[in-house]
Amino acid sequence: MGLKPGLCVETQQPPVFGKGLKVKTLEDSFGRKFPYLRLSVTDVCNFRCTYCLPNGYQKTGKEQFLTLPEIERLVRAFAKLGTWKIRLTGGEPTLRPDFVDIARLVSNTPGIRKLAFTTNGYKLPEKVQSYYDAGLRAINVSIDSLNPANFHDITGHNRFQEAMDGVHAALDTGFEAVKINAVLLKGQNDNELDSYLEWIKNIPVSIRFIELMQTGDNQAYFKKYHLSSDVIKQKLITQGWQDTERREGAGPAVEYTHPDYKGTIGLIAPYAKDFCKSCNRLRVTARGDLRLCLFGEAGFPLRPLLQDDSQQEELQDSIMKAMQFKRSSHFLQQGDTGITPHLASVGG
Ligand code: SAM
Ligand code: SF4
Repeated sequence: MGLKPGLCVETQQPPVFGKGLKVKTLEDSFGRKFPYLRLSVTDVCNFRCTYCLPNGYQKTGKEQFLTLPEIERLVRAFAKLGTWKIRLTGGEPTLRPDFVDIARLVSNTPGIRKLAFTTNGYKLPEKVQSYYDAGLRAINVSIDSLNPANFHDITGHNRFQEAMDGVHAALDTGFEAVKINAVLLKGQNDNELDSYLEWIKNIPVSIRFIELMQTGDNQAYFKKYHLSSDVIKQKLITQGWQDTERREGAGPAVEYTHPDYKGTIGLIAPYAKDFCKSCNRLRVTARGDLRLCLFGEAGFPLRPLLQDDSQQEELQDSIMKAMQFKRSSHFLQQGDTGITPHLASVGG
């Protein structure tokens, strides 16, 4: 989409003018801007992915996740600060009985132009139309293997076909972006590159290969299964795949295309030098803590400011002020995983 005359260069929205009205943007001390929010709506998950929640979700008694009115106030404040893309995640976000209501509310918030979600595909074939109708337009489905038995070994669930049917249903429904997340696991699914490539030869799906990240809970697992995404990168280049320029508001993947394929490949390489330089996203946990980084040292509790409409200004100021604490990079290379036990706790 080209720029339209008369619109703000950055947001492509009409410029906001008015007496005493300040246009605020979220920017950190390294000049990075943050139009993208990843909002976790639950920590709960029904899967047991070996790299994330190998023993399944364990109840903590603190399952009081953000309510609809709290989410509405939160999203309104972020939109006022220039956020235009939101991804709903978790845990498994679709387990929330009010997931469709959340999606509708967020997509109807003035300023939010793109609503995405990440799911393990649970009940996707039957629910996908209701997700689209609620305003969701981009979907990432986690499918760590194209082999049903291997999928079962990794996720603890025999739901491979359901996830695959869900992907095809999402394409038929008209989702603008349909992506697959696959975590690269040495000796477990790293021999499946050719199967993934074969699959996307004729369908417009993008596969995101995500390099396994070390978290507080998976140290031994990480040592055993971590595989550098460079291995996949080299194989792609050898087969004629080419990297493309990053689009505005895009996620962390480096995108590869090939003229003979309808689908594309995205490589997410958190251990690569300069990975954090293009960081454009913030996170809010399901209990309303602002996280400046997936692997930060602290959360900024926003929930007390979400209790009524009168605190909108204070909420926006708190988010703005927190930006000064965003570090230039995570310190994963040094094995510093911050306060993140697993990605289900922060919305990976
Ligand atoms: N439950 C949903 C799902 O699995 O798609 C959404 C939440 S899940 C935390 C989001 C993404 O994070 C999934 O694609 C998952 O594979 C990925 N993930 C979880 N733990 C990870 C880790 N340690 N390293 C890399 N990716 C991870
Ligand atoms: Fe659940 Fe997603 Fe974690 Fe798998 S990766 S256990 S589906 S939250």
